[in-house]
Amino acid sequence: MNLADSEEMAAHLLMRGYALTDQLDQADLVIINTCTVRDHAEHRALSLLGRLRKWKREKDGRHIIFAGCAAQRLGEKLKKTFPYLDLISGAREIDHFADLCDRSGLFAPAPGGEADKRGVTGYVTIMRGCDFACSYCIVPAVRGPVHCLSSKEILTNAARKAQEGHPEIMLLGQTVNAWKEERKTFADLLNEVSALPGVERVRFVSPHPAFITPQFLEAVKNNPKIARHIHLPAQSGSTKVLQEMKRGYTRETLLQKIHALKECGFAISTDLIVGFPTETEEDFLQTLTLVEQAGFSAAYCFKYSPRQGTPAAQLPLLDEKTLEQRLDILLNKVRGLAEHAYSRHIGQQATVLMESPHKGRTSDNFWAQTKKSYKIGSVVQSEVSASDGTLLFTRD
Ligand code: SF4
Repeated sequence: MNLADSEEMAAHLLMRGYALTDQLDQADLVIINTCTVRDHAEHRALSLLGRLRKWKREKDGRHIIFAGCAAQRLGEKLKKTFPYLDLISGAREIDHFADLCDRSGLFAPAPGGEADKRGVTGYVTIMRGCDFACSYCIVPAVRGPVHCLSSKEILTNAARKAQEGHPEIMLLGQTVNAWKEERKTFADLLNEVSALPGVERVRFVSPHPAFITPQFLEAVKNNPKIARHIHLPAQSGSTKVLQEMKRGYTRETLLQKIHALKECGFAISTDLIVGFPTETEEDFLQTLTLVEQAGFSAAYCFKYSPRQGTPAAQLPLLDEKTLEQRLDILLNKVRGLAEHAYSRHIGQQATVLMESPHKGRTSDNFWAQTKKSYKIGSVVQSEVSASDGTLLFTRD
């Protein structure tokens, strides 16, 4: 979401004649697009903002925008600590970013800029906000309830991205597969986007397990343009903890969905939290066995960290030593998942969307290196002959 929001803000500024740079000393403007899901992320963003004070003082005409979820959460009070901050643009204001720039008077409209054409992936936001209320999560408070963009708007944006040279479209939303419009479902939308001229592959993030339905599986199963990778956050393997987290599913229903997805050829990566305040040793063991039974292709593991304003933040924390130990054990368990997943491809056909002349990603999201050189954005079919655990090597 942050990548897409950053692109959207950059696109407005590109249209005003700005150009992108990754050299701070060459920049006239810095946008810090923030995440507030974890305390640590917010601290890092604020610390960067503090360090930019010197950069701003060094030359007239330099500006700083603080954007995204932390900006939404902290609001105007940021200006007390960081008076040199020019603009605060909360996560809910992204759709009005151009107006915000106009109203600020900081950026003179200078039409004639170019769209950003970097990368094979074009990001398209299809919904914002979240209607769930996971007990540890700050997102609903910061981003608000679900708001789905219309299919017309989404298809227009996706078609534009494809025309600009992005053959892969990534559909984005906090609970992306909750998207709906009257009788139209998320699966219908995937099929419509994949049928647009120039679209070779469609991905989506972040889905919620509650919306992995038989109808969804039926609709995607016959469409090879829908990438066979899903990042499905499990968070815990214990039904008791999942209920306390208010995730809306049990271990059993989650495993059923995972197996159904695998039958359709999906590789599944996940997020796991260790040390939720009510997590017992037995609950933690359930997370370990979930990893074994699910056969994830990758797992991102986090220590629970309380976010002020969420129900779980009222609960007493587990001690730090237990948290560290559980994280270590889990990290050892998930180490090697990717290597194993890579090795499973040897001898199989892969469909690779090229991101550089010799490198691209398979439909199930593994990096592949080709022998021959191919045009960026082209789709190559080839057999996988070997893997080093981080890369597949194809015969062609
Ligand atoms: S589904 Fe749960 S974890 Fe995900 S954004 Fe919504 S409240 Fe947060």
